[in-house]
Amino acid sequence: MRQIDKIYIDGAFVTPHGEEWFELFNPATEAVIGQVRLADEEDARRAIAAARRAFPQFSRTRTAERIALLERMHDAVQAREDDLFEAIVEEYGAPVSRARWMAKYAADVLAEVVKVLRTYDFTRRAGSADVVMQPLGVAGLITPWNSNAGFICGKLAAALAAGCTAVVKPSEMSAIQTQIVTEALHDAGLPAGVFNIITGRGETVGAEISAHPDVAKISFTGSTAVGKTILRTGAETLKRVTLELGGKSPMLVLDDADFAEAVPLALQAGYMNSGQACIAGTRILVPQSRLAEFEERVRDEAARVQAGDPRDPATQIGPMVSRKQWERVQRYIRIGVDEGARLLAGGEGRPEGLKSGWFVRPTVFSGVSNDMTIAREEIFGPVLSIIAYRDTEEAIAIANDTSYGLQAYVVSSDAARARAVAARIDAGRVLVNTLAHEPAAPFGGFKQSGIGREYGTFGLEAFMEPKSILGVNRESSASA
Ligand code: NAD
Repeated sequence: MRQIDKIYIDGAFVTPHGEEWFELFNPATEAVIGQVRLADEEDARRAIAAARRAFPQFSRTRTAERIALLERMHDAVQAREDDLFEAIVEEYGAPVSRARWMAKYAADVLAEVVKVLRTYDFTRRAGSADVVMQPLGVAGLITPWNSNAGFICGKLAAALAAGCTAVVKPSEMSAIQTQIVTEALHDAGLPAGVFNIITGRGETVGAEISAHPDVAKISFTGSTAVGKTILRTGAETLKRVTLELGGKSPMLVLDDADFAEAVPLALQAGYMNSGQACIAGTRILVPQSRLAEFEERVRDEAARVQAGDPRDPATQIGPMVSRKQWERVQRYIRIGVDEGARLLAGGEGRPEGLKSGWFVRPTVFSGVSNDMTIAREEIFGPVLSIIAYRDTEEAIAIANDTSYGLQAYVVSSDAARARAVAARIDAGRVLVNTLAHEPAAPFGGFKQSGIGREYGTFGLEAFMEPKSILGVNRESSASA
């Protein structure tokens, strides 16, 4: 039984002012595995004050110094990869292959920012002016539970690379991962106050960060509903915001696709991260003329998808993170049936043989129309919808008929055709015949999937403001 009773403010592990204890669960067994003492608004204010004190000096550090700090952070997080892996499996229930990727990713994302910084020019010319990219100030970084360690490291890396200082509010459900990352980052030996990490509730700590006048920037990953609240709260002080929110990503299977490849790819895209992925391809658009063939292959393929013990290497889908999430997914499966969608695989309840744990049966509906609830709302579990279309024009229209626009997938045996379709999809990322991630490319949503971009130079610039300096080049331009 773990007791986490410290938060990290001003370079030190301190006891929170907040007194509420929050239980941590192993979602595969439903057992309580620990308790975390939560920070409150007073802790948030202390953390913001520490970040504010650290900002003037840190914002003036040279790029080379920040690269050195980020490299130390990378090495320190990498050194804790095995501990992180254990925590991710135990506290989040990610299957081992996914958990290993996530544990590695937390360090990798720091190395990626170093690559960006090495070539990034903080000063450029625009006409006669010098344009200087200046760090915004104190950044509030708020993360969800579905990839907590990776989001903490990714957001912190970009903020610090830009010269901002930070207050991180991780998901309260991921306190073990947070503790490991915090210990690692402490070992990296950054100046006190440059980053502060305080686990607490969204409605208290998150809300204080979103409202506080000394916070210049919020970078948030989480639900669209909370993203809107943060945007409204931050408006009072005109905070800059990056919001990475939900999705209902379309997987467009074009009529020339090889189904032997398309079906496994579609299920992987839909079931990634046990279905608890904002980028999951949950609406599978299939040509009506080949629907029966696609369905038959899905039935076979889905029967082979193993949901269960995350420590079994054959498992592809682990438990949902919490009872609440499990109930939410069950409710959506019921709604799908009630609305007249046809179950091709899965359904309500736990997978066969599992009596406890927040496990869901890998579920695929067919006969779904794009106006059904299961096609419109983000379920955040392994529940996929097959939607038939008549021709490519209709497929594109259905793909774009959503309030979201985070990611889309196109599968075709004709790359040029797939690219032409990709060009017409309203989403921040379109993956053609692949599920690969590209850390150098911007990531973020169109429409209600968010505002702004993370990763690469776009992600770095999200923590800066351009400042034009005019007049200083007058003599040289006059003499030129
Ligand atoms: P959530 O929105 O409930 O919580 C996310 C974070 O916000 C948590 O740390 C929470 O404590 C905090 N929070 C809650 N209320 C707040 C408030 N009023 N003010 C400030 N902070 C507050 O989301 P979740 O349930 O943790 O995560 C699942 C959601 O995240 C899904 O909708 C998913 O699509 C989304 N998500 C998006 C991305 C992306 O990059 N676009 C990635 C992962 C998850």
